[in-house]
Amino acid sequence: MPKVKAYYGDTAKDQGIGLHIDPQADLQELLDAWQPLCDQTAFTKQYASNSDQSCRACTHNCCDTAYVIPDIIAFKKMAAHLNFSPAELVDTYFQPEKRNIGLLRMLPNPCVFLKEKLCSIYPVRSLICRFYLCAPMQGSTEQLIYLLSSTGMAATHVYARQNGILEPPGGAISSMDRLFLELFDQYCADPLLEHFLKAQDYCDIPLKPFMDSSGFINK
Ligand code: SF4
Ligand code: SF4
Repeated sequence: MPKVKAYYGDTAKDQGIGLHIDPQADLQELLDAWQPLCDQTAFTKQYASNSDQSCRACTHNCCDTAYVIPDIIAFKKMAAHLNFSPAELVDTYFQPEKRNIGLLRMLPNPCVFLKEKLCSIYPVRSLICRFYLCAPMQGSTEQLIYLLSSTGMAATHVYARQNGILEPPGGAISSMDRLFLELFDQYCADPLLEHFLKAQDYCDIPLKPFMDSSGFINK
């Protein structure tokens, strides 16, 4: 019996993508339940170019404009997958001007890993890439996945600073960059960060503390 169920609610009270989560579940179990939504055709994806609404066949690709900062688990997996050290990964695939102001943003417009309209690192893509769907989401679900993604991104910045890959924040920044830096400052002070910093993989990260902190409500 899966500990996490993802579903699409279409009643006035239960509208959009929702989750039912056993408090014993871990993040990998949430990702396993979420993945089928990407190619599910039973609900409308607002920007899908294809009539069956699957991400796989979509050519209006959200990856063309995405602002992607990987969570720490994906960051380490990407380095291992590409056979790079973390520093080589950053040197090769991240925006130097953002790195200079203390941010780890992957090269964008389109994403550096988008090849022929498909993600070339799909199995190791980051939480923000896995969770993004251009479809309505229930508030409680959105809060939970936002907290998980943001905490994971903040952990990448702590890890990169501790390992001399990233300078502390500084210099002229745009409002979007400021938003991310302020967000990461906030999450770096949160005890939830430790769950990402000490985890080897998503299965090591319990969902319960994130459910409690985000005010997640099981339906
Ligand atoms: S989430 Fe992205 S890939 Fe999926 S349908 Fe929407 S725009 Fe296309
Ligand atoms: S890593 Fe993959 S899924 Fe994420 S933005 Fe890049 S191409 Fe898209």
